[in-house]
Amino acid sequence: MTDASRTAVSRVADRLRTELGEDAVVTDHARLRTYECDGLAHYKVTPALVVLPRTTAQVADVVRACVEHGVPYVARGSGTGLSGGALPHAEGVLVVTSQMRELVDVDPDDQRAVVQPGVINLHVTRAAQPAGYYYAPDPSSQQVCSIGGNVAENSGGAHCLKYGFTTNHVTGIELVVPDGTVVRLGGRAPDPPGYDLLGAFVGSEGTLGIATEVTVRLMRTPEAVRTMLAAFPSTDEAGGAVSAIIGAGVVPAAIEMMDALAIEAAEAAVHCDYPHGAGAVLVIELDGPDAEVTAQFDEVERHCRDNAAFEIRIAKDDDERALFWKGRKSAFAAVGRISPAYIVQDGVIPRTALPEVLRRIAELSAGSGVRVANVFHAGDGNLHPLVLFDDAVAGEADRAEEVSAAILDLCIEHGGSITGEHGVGMDKAKYMPRMYTDDDLDTMQMLRCAFDPEHLSNPGKVFPTPRLCGEVPGRHKGPHPLQEAGLAEVF
Ligand SMILES: Cc1cc2nc3c(=O)[nH]c(=O)nc-3n(C[C@H](O)[C@H](O)[C@H](O)COP(=O)(O)OP(=O)(O)OC[C@H]3O[C@@H](n4cnc5c(N)ncnc54)[C@H](O)[C@@H]3O)c2cc1C
Repeated sequence: MTDASRTAVSRVADRLRTELGEDAVVTDHARLRTYECDGLAHYKVTPALVVLPRTTAQVADVVRACVEHGVPYVARGSGTGLSGGALPHAEGVLVVTSQMRELVDVDPDDQRAVVQPGVINLHVTRAAQPAGYYYAPDPSSQQVCSIGGNVAENSGGAHCLKYGFTTNHVTGIELVVPDGTVVRLGGRAPDPPGYDLLGAFVGSEGTLGIATEVTVRLMRTPEAVRTMLAAFPSTDEAGGAVSAIIGAGVVPAAIEMMDALAIEAAEAAVHCDYPHGAGAVLVIELDGPDAEVTAQFDEVERHCRDNAAFEIRIAKDDDERALFWKGRKSAFAAVGRISPAYIVQDGVIPRTALPEVLRRIAELSAGSGVRVANVFHAGDGNLHPLVLFDDAVAGEADRAEEVSAAILDLCIEHGGSITGEHGVGMDKAKYMPRMYTDDDLDTMQMLRCAFDPEHLSNPGKVFPTPRLCGEVPGRHKGPHPLQEAGLAEVF
């Protein structure tokens, strides 16, 4: 850290101690180190300062202090992100929302909940449940991740196949924009006119400001829920069943796939007792009106059998349903039972490409000697290959990284994306040019500059070659096409 940065941070700290109180400002090195990474633990940076605001006004105080002293800042919810999005800035402030956990208003009549950003995802459902409602987006980390983090990452989950991602469930946001002003985007009512700035904010990974209050949609708890576990000889047949089910017009609440290696890991960790000898299993859940679920369940079972399912189990009660899900939900952590280290990859492909891409991943794995376990949201083609390696063996981490990158290339080659739900963050910024042209990236950069001309809000994330907002876009070809068309200007 330069002397100038150290002085700037210490001025911010002094000011915030006065404005927020002593206990909201962390400067002790040992305590700062507890915030040095998110869920992607191989990137570590100790922040220069941590602050824990409780209110929107306090978040605005923090941002204004940072702007005044030219200090970068990074928002952090629960720190479960898997792309290094909440990785601190070594010369900056980490703004942690864990003290902002108030459920401001839970209103079943309006089917809305208004919450502070540090509220844990599952707590929204718990609050709405007595009235027969729930919050639909359900990342596997939902017991710990925050709504603010979900908004910033546009998080998904097993049930987003039928109900949509976070962006489909957020109707309003209050945020502190990077000049320290408090603004509101959207509200309780859906679809306001004008540009969809709310849509732009959801998924912006902390680069457009800090959300301080979020209004979300509540859904009616379905009348019936039925869950099936189907075992197949291989991922080929399981992928075929997924396409057949959805192609027939049935949209299950969830279809999750695990391959043989992922099943092995889950068995070792949680003894979920999945069918012996399965090359792949599908956990399929249908929900909705009782009569519809019953009719569609028979159809789903038929498609599984037509695609060579050799065992089908139907959960007879909530306990058995929980057991089916236990294997799937514990799969990421379970892989620790069969490998000292692993990369959780996240990419998307059209679901019809599942069998082909899974075969190609198996070839990559065989060719490189790097084991890959697959556990993923099969219904929307959101792959989570877990690339296993031993970090104590020289060169293994690099080989795993190469396989991991090659899997993303496969996703792009098949018309997919480098991330489905975990975000770009620090980790995948380098892959953005594989998916987007310079013009695409320049256009996104223009939006970012419109919100954050000083480039202080989560700098260094999402974009591969961050440029200052005064720089002329169009690195190789002069002005950007939007500039030439008179539709945009450089700030
Ligand atoms: C075991 C495990 C399973 C997971 N399963 C899923 C899954 O099924 N689906 C899924 O989508 N993700 C999953 N994740 C990833 C992660 O849980 C999600 O990305 C989650 O939304 C992150 O929330 P968080 O509160 O931990 O955010 P953090 O990690 O703290 O931050 C994530 C990003 O959000 C920004 N941010 C945080 N709060 C705010 C705010 N108030 N305003 C603006 N920006 C903010 C940060 O700057 C950062 O860029 C999983 C993670 C783990 C460890």
